[in-house]
Amino acid sequence: MHKSHPALNRFVAPFSIGQSIEGRDQIVHANFDLAGERLPGELTLLIGGMHGDEIATVLLLEQFVTRFLADLNEPVAVLALCNPDSYTRCSRYNSNGVDLNRNCGFNWSAQSEEPSGPGPWSEPETRALRDFILKWRPSKIVSLHWALAEIDADGHQSTQLAQRMWDALSEEERRPYRLRVTEPGRGQKRLQSVYTACPGSLGQWCGYALGENDEGAPAMITLELPYDPLLPRPAELPEDHLETLRARWARDSAGYLREAEGAVFKMLLAACGA
Ligand SMILES: [Zn+2]
Repeated sequence: MHKSHPALNRFVAPFSIGQSIEGRDQIVHANFDLAGERLPGELTLLIGGMHGDEIATVLLLEQFVTRFLADLNEPVAVLALCNPDSYTRCSRYNSNGVDLNRNCGFNWSAQSEEPSGPGPWSEPETRALRDFILKWRPSKIVSLHWALAEIDADGHQSTQLAQRMWDALSEEERRPYRLRVTEPGRGQKRLQSVYTACPGSLGQWCGYALGENDEGAPAMITLELPYDPLLPRPAELPEDHLETLRARWARDSAGYLREAEGAVFKMLLAACGA
C-alpha cells in the first residue's frame, strides 16, 4: 500500500497522556510516534468518553483504531476514553463529581447547570487533554458525545470540516443527524447562545479560545451520536430522550452500535482525510 509519508503508519505503542484521579491512564493511539517531537503533517485528534456514561463513543473509537488507524495517510491521534474513572462507574462525571466538558478554561462558569469544578482546568483529566492539544496543535478535532444527533461546528473555521463530514454521508445516512454550523454574519449571536448552553466546554475552548493567538483555532466538531441510527432526527428531541436511549442501550447495545457505525466511520474517515 502507498504510504504518503515515511513517518506515518508506524503503529506505535499506546501512549499515556496523563492519569485520572484514581490513577487510570488516558491512552492515545496514533499513527505516528507520540514520543517524538515532530509531527509529520497536520494532525487530526479524535476524542471519546469525556462523559463515561456515553459508552458508544468509546467503543466506536476503539473499533476505529483497530480497523482504520494504521491505513490513514494523515497524522491521526485517538483518545478513545478521556474520562476513565467515570467509564468504570458509567457516570457522566469524574471522581470529583465534575463534568469535564464544563471544566475547560474558556467561558468557564461556577453557575453551570452541570458541575464545572472549583475552577477552570481544576481536573487532571482536562489538564492532560489541554496539554496534549497545546503540544501537538491539531488542525482538526472531533469530539464524540451521546446523543443529541448532530454535527456541531464551533467557529467559522470549523464549517468546512463539518460540511465534509456531512457530504461523506448518503441522504439516508444523514437523516438521523442535523448539521449545525456558525451562520455567516451572525457569529456573535451564535456565540452568545452557545456560551449560555455549554460554558467551559472543550468545543468552545478549542473552537474560539485557541484562535485568540496567532496560531489559529482548529476546526472543532462535536459529533453527537444519533438518537436513533435508523430514524430521522426529530425537530425537537423528546424531553426524556436520554432515558429512552439508555433503556435502548441496556436492551441492545450491539444493535445500536451496528446501526450507527457505518455513518460514524464515514464521517470520521472524512475528517481524517481518507
Ligand atoms: Zn457527552
